[in-house]
Amino acid sequence: MGRTKEFLEELFAREKVREIEFRGRCHDCGREVSIVIHLDEEGTLTVSGGALWYTFKVFAKCEACFEKSPVLTDFQPCEVYSRIVGYMRPVHQWNLGKKEEWQVRVPFSIKS
Ligand SMILES: [Zn+2]
Repeated sequence: MGRTKEFLEELFAREKVREIEFRGRCHDCGREVSIVIHLDEEGTLTVSGGALWYTFKVFAKCEACFEKSPVLTDFQPCEVYSRIVGYMRPVHQWNLGKKEEWQVRVPFSIKS
């Protein structure tokens, strides 16, 4: 829960609350899910109603699906590499200006 824990701790620090509820759909079965995360005085996080992951966005699993499979699979976005300024780099790591530029690039083939 490394990145997820960091994400939640930052969220609690920013929002200055003791409890946060995530509402959405279970990643596995698609049912509505409500996950409550509680932060106690000692800084311990307690999760109820299912499980939560933060990768590039928040994913949730209901309790039943988490019991069936406690790992999150099939969630990764497609990694697109392209040439930036003289080298290849995943597009999601580019800066905003370069990402905009990438949107208007047009692929073409050179006939030999
Ligand atoms: Zn489920």
